[in-house]
Amino acid sequence: MWVSRNSPLPEASEAEWERLAREVAECTACPLSKTRRYPVFGVGDRRARWMLIGEAPGEQEDLTGEPFVGPAGQLLNEMLRTLRLRREEVYITNVLKSRPPGNRDPKPEEIAACEPFLKRQIALVQPKILLAIGRIAAQSLLKTEASLSKLRGKVHRYETIPLVVIYHPAYLLRNPAAKRQAFEDLKLAYRVYSESEQVHG
Ligand code: URA
Repeated sequence: MWVSRNSPLPEASEAEWERLAREVAECTACPLSKTRRYPVFGVGDRRARWMLIGEAPGEQEDLTGEPFVGPAGQLLNEMLRTLRLRREEVYITNVLKSRPPGNRDPKPEEIAACEPFLKRQIALVQPKILLAIGRIAAQSLLKTEASLSKLRGKVHRYETIPLVVIYHPAYLLRNPAAKRQAFEDLKLAYRVYSESEQVHG
């Protein structure tokens, strides 16, 4: 049955979202649950066509419980605008739901502990396209150790969903010269999305 993405969430799905958010909040599977301030679950349209997945909460996110609210978040919002999207129209989350101390890279066992939550979020949103934000998100979603330069500029699949790898906005803040390539990645994502809309509606 075709369901309008503007209609309210079915009750069963609403209940599943609540259960999932509670499980994330109560999770103690890795030691980050002891050092974090707030878990960062995800924000946006729970039936968005676009789903964006970053690495892990930073300091601002840990303090607010919302992904991408610091300087990198401001740039991510601008990147979304080039796709003619507003933040509320997409769903944004991270591979890790808790901040690693000092913003160090997530450890493989932390990624593994959080993976079932992310999988369930993707299954609930059912996006038309996934954007992996930065190397760590791309490597964990695609189960590869390939470098970002090898992964960007191509269309991958996460299960059946097309996935495009984009530069992390924090990297772009440090390396503004990469913004031109970042724009190319966004154009690729937009093309992939438009093509899938033409095929599936
Ligand atoms: N960087 C990320 O990868 N995620 C956030 O939520 C913030 C910064």
